[in-house]
Amino acid sequence: MGLIKTVFMTELLMGLKIVFMQMFKPYCTLQYPHVKHPIPDGYRGLMSLLRYEDGSERCVGCSLCEAACPSNCIKVVSDEVPGQPLVRYAREYYLDISRCVFCGFCTEACPVDALAMTKVYEASVYDRRELMFDKRKLYALGEQFLEDGKAYLVAHGMDDGTLYPREGLGDNRYAFPPVDTAHGGEQPEQIGLTREALEVEEIR
Ligand code: SF4
Ligand code: SF4
Repeated sequence: MGLIKTVFMTELLMGLKIVFMQMFKPYCTLQYPHVKHPIPDGYRGLMSLLRYEDGSERCVGCSLCEAACPSNCIKVVSDEVPGQPLVRYAREYYLDISRCVFCGFCTEACPVDALAMTKVYEASVYDRRELMFDKRKLYALGEQFLEDGKAYLVAHGMDDGTLYPREGLGDNRYAFPPVDTAHGGEQPEQIGLTREALEVEEIR
């Protein structure tokens, strides 16, 4: 039997038969990066900070995200809004994406839905220092990928209905009034930057 198999190369012919059959089946390989899989709304990609509809910052600088982060990669510098001693905001906000494990705990800890994750996963850089996101970069990401952020909060049951109004929502999160940052918050115009200048590099 072994001699017959050797003479007629049956194993080789069996292998060729499988290859030949596969040639007529549909491809299952996507031609990445030209073709990409659809990303689910709950996907945990790059982090972003969100604004209210009027453009004011949602973040009130409470540092709950910093406390919840298991990687210690968030640093919030909180401050009072001048003239409004009961109102606080994040004067500085740093997030070291190179240490982030994309667990989403920070978004769940945030009481005002200021944090949301986008569907952006292509963030490779040559210089690791570029992965230290500051407040301006995080807000710029939030503006560029706002729909991702909204979909993320809805998918994880964190939207209180103010971002994405729909029936049956509004009781699962706190709903603080918008922070008036016009007197102290770092709105782009106040620090000499237009919103266009804050556009992050098109990486999608
Ligand atoms: S996703 Fe997790 S690891 Fe990343 S910043 Fe948020 S809490 Fe920290
Ligand atoms: S992002 Fe949310 S949890 Fe973090 S400091 Fe701002 S308001 Fe607090």
